[in-house]
Amino acid sequence: MDDLSRFCCQNRDCPDHGERGAGNLSVCGRYGKARRRLLYCRTCKARFSERKGTPLFGSQLTEEQATSIFEHLAERTGVRATARLVKVNRNTVVRYARLAGDHARQLHDELAAFSPQHP
Ligand SMILES: [Zn+2]
Repeated sequence: MDDLSRFCCQNRDCPDHGERGAGNLSVCGRYGKARRRLLYCRTCKARFSERKGTPLFGSQLTEEQATSIFEHLAERTGVRATARLVKVNRNTVVRYARLAGDHARQLHDELAAFSPQHP
């Protein structure tokens, strides 16, 4: 069973926009090499990638930047160094670190655009 409680509808006009675990989402397909899930909102009938449904993408950062931040955080790179390496504001890194919390590693694994271990 897919756990979608972390996701919410990405359609700003949807009554359930931003509501996590509201039960309006389901998986309607898979895409890409990593078999990312395509989510469907029952309320507004929108479809979107699961990568858009995470807390990360309400920000200005590109997916690459977000992924890099998590990579550095997962490797225990300091906030200042991470900010310098990814070329983002230090406050942004702090915000992301807070968002990710103990889940940095898990989030990173989900965000990484490859999964060589899995056929
Ligand atoms: Zn919706």
